Amino acid sequence: KDSKDRLEALRAEIERRNPAQPEFHQAVREVLETLAPVFTARPEYADPAVALVERLTEPERQIVFRVPWQDDRGRVHVNRGYRVEFNSALGPYKGGLRFHPSVDIGVVKFLGFEQIFKNALTGLGIGGGKGGSDFDPRGRSDAEVMRFCQSFMTELHRHIGEHTDVPAGDIGVGGREIGYLFGQYRRITNRWEAGVLTGKGQGWGGSAIRPQATGYGSVLFAAEMLKVRGESLDGLTAVVSGSGNVAQYTIEKLQQLGANPLTCSDSQGYVVDEKGIDLALLQQVKEVERGRVMQYAERRGASARFVPARRVWEVPADIAFPSATQNELDAQDARTLVAAGVKAVSEGANMPTTPEAVRILQQAGVAFGPGKAANAGGVAVSALEMSQNAGRVAWSAQRVEEELAAIMRSIHAVAHETAERYGAPGDYVTGANIAGFERVADAMLAQGVI
Ligand code: GLU
Repeated sequence: KDSKDRLEALRAEIERRNPAQPEFHQAVREVLETLAPVFTARPEYADPAVALVERLTEPERQIVFRVPWQDDRGRVHVNRGYRVEFNSALGPYKGGLRFHPSVDIGVVKFLGFEQIFKNALTGLGIGGGKGGSDFDPRGRSDAEVMRFCQSFMTELHRHIGEHTDVPAGDIGVGGREIGYLFGQYRRITNRWEAGVLTGKGQGWGGSAIRPQATGYGSVLFAAEMLKVRGESLDGLTAVVSGSGNVAQYTIEKLQQLGANPLTCSDSQGYVVDEKGIDLALLQQVKEVERGRVMQYAERRGASARFVPARRVWEVPADIAFPSATQNELDAQDARTLVAAGVKAVSEGANMPTTPEAVRILQQAGVAFGPGKAANAGGVAVSALEMSQNAGRVAWSAQRVEEELAAIMRSIHAVAHETAERYGAPGDYVTGANIAGFERVADAMLAQGVI
């Protein structure tokens, strides 16, 4: 009761200090709501004189900058760039860059805050950070995207480095953008510093399996959750939202493990394909043509149809993989999934499930894998990319994939065990939050008032 009251007071104070940042409030609340048992068991975490939670929720550094760039017609545009260096108790700041019109400081802070605990769960010695811009790459030419990336890096370069802060991709930032960003970093600094960015091309310092890692990891996490219940993915149908990197490799790994992914989506609507998604066609439409999922449906033939302005969760399936963006699966969607008999939900995206939807799924006994645990495979392979860069070596795809699988098993095990130890068996949200929090909190306490 005391711990709950203290956490509630802290939450109110954090919201007061960070007005108009609803996504950040949501992410903080979701973590604090699960920490009461660990505050009771370990009173040093709760000691007001140490202000641990106050420090943990205040980024170490927040960088906001102007990004001017010229379009193909010579017109100048101005976007806003961000890098939030949230916590470096466990290692250099690590986390992606998101280019999307919805990006603002509150979105970057929510992502950076989640990243602290996710990265701690990997056990690989990486702190938490995030960045991005409100730039919208949709409809922009290659040359425009390149000029934007160069301008973005012209400011960002002074804040990052292989031992300081290591960005990667996120929504709107893939291999193409990382290439342009890396080229500009190299040019400005006159350093071949491969470890400054992850998600690089395999010919110039990138790791095998990095593009696949988030989606593969999310499916492996679902397989672990099912295994605890004596079940497997084989023969199950799946709904997948999104159509970017995470969704694509979620689809691929599901197919490899004998499941049938029926859907994918974008902001215009979704595709349902009775025969299962044809990944080669989806990748042709998305990566080569940079088109929309509607075009997939037009070309796939009779098995597929496009459903405009609706969400994939209305398609009945055994398992669900929200792999698009935050708050894309709400309470009504959760009820629909439960009514259809869904067994497991694994978050490939960051915070895609609203708090009420999480409660509905958990109360119905659905195995729910929160993003901090379920999508940690991406950043984990980023950390493996940093290791390879530091040693100037390149590991085989087989080796990286084996390491990824081992890391996902270990994240599942620690989340599962921690939930049990703190009286919430089967609650991976509580397990992941407490396990990640303990690692960061112990490091912060050991390192003094910083
Ligand atoms: N953006 C990804 C995430 O949300 C990956 C970050 C990284 O590889 O640094 O975890």
